[in-house]
Amino acid sequence: MPHALPIELLHSLQRIKGFDEAAFIAAHTIENQITSIRVNPAKPSNSVNSTLLSAEKIPWCTNGYYLQERPSFTLDPHFHAGAYYVQEASSMFLETVMKQTIDLNASLKVLDLCAAPGGKSTLIQSLISTDSFLVSNEVIKTRVNILAENITKWGAANVVVTNNDPKDFQRLANYFDVIVVDAPCSGSGLFRKDNVAISEWSMDNVALCSQRQQRILADVVSSLKPGGVLIYSTCSYSEVENENIAEWLTKENTFESCKINFQENWGIVETAKNDVYGYRFYPDKIKGEGFFIAAFKRNEDVNAQKLKQKPINQKSTVTKSQFEYLSKWINPKLVIEYFNWKNEVIALPYILLQEMANLQSALYIKKIGINIGSAIRNELIPSHELAVSTILTPDVETINLKLEDALQFLRLQHFELTDTKPGWKLIVYNELPLGFIKSMSNRFNNYYPREWRIFNK
Ligand code: SAM
Repeated sequence: MPHALPIELLHSLQRIKGFDEAAFIAAHTIENQITSIRVNPAKPSNSVNSTLLSAEKIPWCTNGYYLQERPSFTLDPHFHAGAYYVQEASSMFLETVMKQTIDLNASLKVLDLCAAPGGKSTLIQSLISTDSFLVSNEVIKTRVNILAENITKWGAANVVVTNNDPKDFQRLANYFDVIVVDAPCSGSGLFRKDNVAISEWSMDNVALCSQRQQRILADVVSSLKPGGVLIYSTCSYSEVENENIAEWLTKENTFESCKINFQENWGIVETAKNDVYGYRFYPDKIKGEGFFIAAFKRNEDVNAQKLKQKPINQKSTVTKSQFEYLSKWINPKLVIEYFNWKNEVIALPYILLQEMANLQSALYIKKIGINIGSAIRNELIPSHELAVSTILTPDVETINLKLEDALQFLRLQHFELTDTKPGWKLIVYNELPLGFIKSMSNRFNNYYPREWRIFNK
């Protein structure tokens, strides 16, 4: 049974546009679990799409769907293969905002500042072009692993995962074309999913969150290029964390608010105070949870200094002979660069190789591009990252498993194989790569990462 909503929250929302107390309380009273997913357009998706034929589409996101019921994601190999991401529907509106404020065909440098566990980052990655890249950052060290895991499963080579404080980005002045700040907040928008959030909610915490949001934004804005776009969002209903922050941004910083168009029947509420626009999602008006989003354009500044491009570190680029055996593992249709990093080989698009030195000198990099494995004695020992990436060659030898064996593979438990020819084999379920095994004459080793294995029976 859901907890009662905090009276102080209800009072504080009385005069806010779109707030309808009775409907809002009712939406929190009925047990209404909404489950939504976003399909990964870069992975083979026939089998996922066939299960979604009757699913309702989320109107503001191309690959977003509402599921009729919540399945066991743990027991779905498609989930582990990165074929989709389970994401709250309202937050997928980021797609509409990005499409209307940014030229997504351009070559862009994008920062997702508060990125763990990776919902917005995986969405952003699907929207940007292949000659763009995304820095997906999380300040809290213990949350970086789950972010890196989700980015790895998503499979793209144009993402960097970093573990930095917002103020570290001041080292990259006027650098990013787009910055997304999905800020830590008081979390009232998620009350229906999280009863603990209700008991922990207080006006004092809302005020603290608001101050922290200002601090985060103040720390990071100088790394946005003049003319660049800043997108700010929270999952809070409180004005001091939403419209007031938006207003502060346009007053104290050199930002202009962006108006977003959407269909009226989507149920989103636009708030506009002194020409500063914000977009509210109330659970009694839309099929999703509470959310707020606003977009801004940084004013042009002719005097802004561009960051000087640091040269590519030639010592870490691969040799010609290395290139020959490495490139056999990569889809020949892609233009990919390689470099040696801590005894491993990284594959990445040229734009990232070019920016690598700038990023390395400013940030703590947890993961960059695709770590394709270690190069030992003219051979690549392929990594799990390569197996689930979208750059792997289609010519790799594969073994297709049925559901029960695929789950045994993901549990790191025994399953029978009739194919015993020695060598590396890609384990595939419904066209989707799950990981590598190495076959010997009478047995095989499973290379699925131990820390990701599933325990569920
Ligand atoms: N964008 C994520 C997604 O869509 O999956 C959710 C982000 S969550 C709303 C906010 C994130 O901000 C959390 O991962 C949290 O660890 C991080 N955070 C907490 N304090 C922060 C701070 N002072 N500066 C920057 N990020 C912070």
